[in-house]
Amino acid sequence: MDLGIAGKWALVGGASKGLGWGCARALALEGVNVVMVARGAEVLNKAVDDLRDETGGKVKLIALAQDITTSAGREAIWNVAGGPGKDYDIVVTNAGGPPPGDFRDWDREAWIKATVDGMAARGFGRIVNITSSAVKAPIDVLGLSNGARSGLTGFVAGASRSKIAGQGVTINNLLPGKFDTDRIRATLPAMAQKQGKTVEEMRAIQQAQIPAGRYGNPQEFGAICAFLCSQHAAYMTGQNVLADGGAYAGTF
Ligand code: NAP
Repeated sequence: MDLGIAGKWALVGGASKGLGWGCARALALEGVNVVMVARGAEVLNKAVDDLRDETGGKVKLIALAQDITTSAGREAIWNVAGGPGKDYDIVVTNAGGPPPGDFRDWDREAWIKATVDGMAARGFGRIVNITSSAVKAPIDVLGLSNGARSGLTGFVAGASRSKIAGQGVTINNLLPGKFDTDRIRATLPAMAQKQGKTVEEMRAIQQAQIPAGRYGNPQEFGAICAFLCSQHAAYMTGQNVLADGGAYAGTF
């Protein structure tokens, strides 16, 4: 299926690995030019080089090593050489996620405000916020994250249904359950130790609790993101889309 977004410009946060990388890759494979942001230049440059090879140089891919939690980092993104300035057609808000007990996430609302009017004026825009299944089923040790992400979810519920809904701009949230990324790999050892298990046993226990019987992978997450950014998803806005292999057991 042609997603109808070739030639557009996307900004993807946290794009050197994990879920952000999955989104950047899926968009680039659809012909979208992507500014990929992460702090570590080495991993980011490698990710961009590999994607350039995979896409055969058909799209513009720009690596921008910046900390998006800082105003200097955000300013750099608007001014990146060869980029679209603030005229992004697609924005995927994502970063590394908050550590337990602390919240250092970036202000996603600032991105929405900075890009949405231009999108509306041009008659096309897609904003996808990568949040978490914790918005629907809170995780006890991530209290501040649960709260802040729920706040963003409420903001999006209203903003997505404002005037922009009639101007070709959609805002949706994509909620990952458990995906096999560095983030999950980093949390496993402590969890395993706490329960007196090996890391491999802990992985198996977690995967057995997911109806799909496995963790998700960044490529399949990226494909859902690309669909939400497509022309075909024009009538879908203000939604919270779970990708969790069936882990959340609610009817809705
Ligand atoms: P990940 O594999 O650790 O990747 C995080 C990406 O964000 C990396 O590219 C990282 O690169 C970048 N990043 C982190 N802090 C940044 C900053 N301040 N500025 C710019 N880039 C930054 O994590 P992930 O699993 O993809 O998770 C992405 C998001 O999904 C997080 O918010 C996480 O809480 C959420 N989530 C993930 C899961 C899961 O199972 N994986 C489940 C629920 C929710 P640098 O470190 O080099 O900057």
